[in-house]
Amino acid sequence: MNSDHARLWHALGMGPLWRLRADAPAGAGGATPDTDRADPAELDWDGLEAAVAACTACSLCETRTQTVFGVGQRSAHWLFVGEAPGAEEDARGEPFVGQAGRLLDNMLAAAGLGRDRDGAEGVFIANVLKCRPPGNRNPEPAEVARCAPFLERQIALLRPRIIVVMGRFAAQALLATDATIASLRGRVHELRIGAEDAALRVPVVVTYHPAYLLRNLADKAKSWDDLLLARDTYAQRAPA
Ligand code: SF4
Repeated sequence: MNSDHARLWHALGMGPLWRLRADAPAGAGGATPDTDRADPAELDWDGLEAAVAACTACSLCETRTQTVFGVGQRSAHWLFVGEAPGAEEDARGEPFVGQAGRLLDNMLAAAGLGRDRDGAEGVFIANVLKCRPPGNRNPEPAEVARCAPFLERQIALLRPRIIVVMGRFAAQALLATDATIASLRGRVHELRIGAEDAALRVPVVVTYHPAYLLRNLADKAKSWDDLLLARDTYAQRAPA
């Protein structure tokens, strides 16, 4: 694991979460110090959404149109996680809109899921980063470190029964690895959130990002296989 991924690993709660924020160099990707914002771990859904909307903890706040908090029912059992908002998401304030979003919605519908549904059929969709990187460049580790407490709090509040991670960046960030997406697909990983003795353990399935599938139609079948693996995993682990 390289140092960037070690930082992401900590930032995403696979260790002492808040230490990373304190260690992050002052101003590294940050417009204002973290000490200026409320602790996301203390916030409820509405407080968290307001905190994200007002966040200036990294320089992405200077170029965004608006933050993209996430979409879906807050009692959904499924969480889908992508990388960061693109241009359309930045303009509309919702993740996975446009062509890639329509593909995702079609795949969800085929699996009996939807962002407007609840409980076992419900999907909440969020990104690792809540603000668009200019020109859709790759997120910087410092930006992820600043933003990670928001995603971690979303996971803690949602308590999803399963997480589907879409795309190489999000998969490597959540799973703290440099492994290729090809090697991460096809098996079930586990994400631990919180202190070791009280950690929330959530199964994670990795799949391709819908934007990638638009350019690589042959891999759609593999993505469908991933969704079926996630559905089987959910069915095995969900309480009767
Ligand atoms: Fe804040 Fe995250 Fe947006 Fe950076 S990307 S300004 S940490 S909400």
